[in-house]
Amino acid sequence: MARISAVLFDMDDTLIDWSRAEGDIAAIEAKHMANVYRHLADQDHVLPPFQSFLDQFHNAMVNAWTEAKKSWSGVSFGSLLRDFLATCGLDTDKIDLEAVMQAYNWSVIPGVAPFDDTLFVLAQLKEAGYKIGLITNAMQPMWMRDIELRAFGILDYLDARLTSGDVGFMKPHPFIYHRALELLDVAPEAAVFVGDRPANDIAGANKAGLISVLISPPHLNRDLADTRPNYTISQLTELLPILAELEGDT
Ligand SMILES: [Mg+2]
Repeated sequence: MARISAVLFDMDDTLIDWSRAEGDIAAIEAKHMANVYRHLADQDHVLPPFQSFLDQFHNAMVNAWTEAKKSWSGVSFGSLLRDFLATCGLDTDKIDLEAVMQAYNWSVIPGVAPFDDTLFVLAQLKEAGYKIGLITNAMQPMWMRDIELRAFGILDYLDARLTSGDVGFMKPHPFIYHRALELLDVAPEAAVFVGDRPANDIAGANKAGLISVLISPPHLNRDLADTRPNYTISQLTELLPILAELEGDT
């Protein structure tokens, strides 16, 4: 009887590699918020000048994350957007928030791609019968990040996937791990969690009772502080012998 039933992953810098992302995050944010701005302007909403709209949204987002991190609650893009539009003086009862989020037109960030071994490892895990999960600390609803997962060929491997924006809690809060395990119908001790952030991915996995694996790709230098991962790897293929060891095959 297999000891491990599921392997769960963080998304950014665990399954997908941000080291060659083109353009900075501020420019990416501006591009998508310009889509929102045009969408609302087309519907005759009275808006502040674009730069002010953008700056105010950015500040609202930073504040929301700062606040959320105090209790590890999740920032929801939809709620953030709704509250922000209200502060711009818009009547949010008259705004179709889903349509605004569609207009935002989230897409793959140029230069971001799966790591060289991501799809190989996912295929091996699937082949071996493991359930595969994903938990990301992202404010976007899952359907937005699915756009990237689909483009990268990752989506079909996932049996459960959650964003903190949807769940209302972010890693390291145990709730989001337990929610994913519930969806996979797997006990914490029968699950492995792989992530790149010690303070979020690993501290949370440890607290929630999963076996933790820190992936530390060469371009990242993470401070461990007092977090102790059960295993540390530098690329995903190294996960395979660890699983064999956990199963008692070696
Ligand atoms: Mg990450």
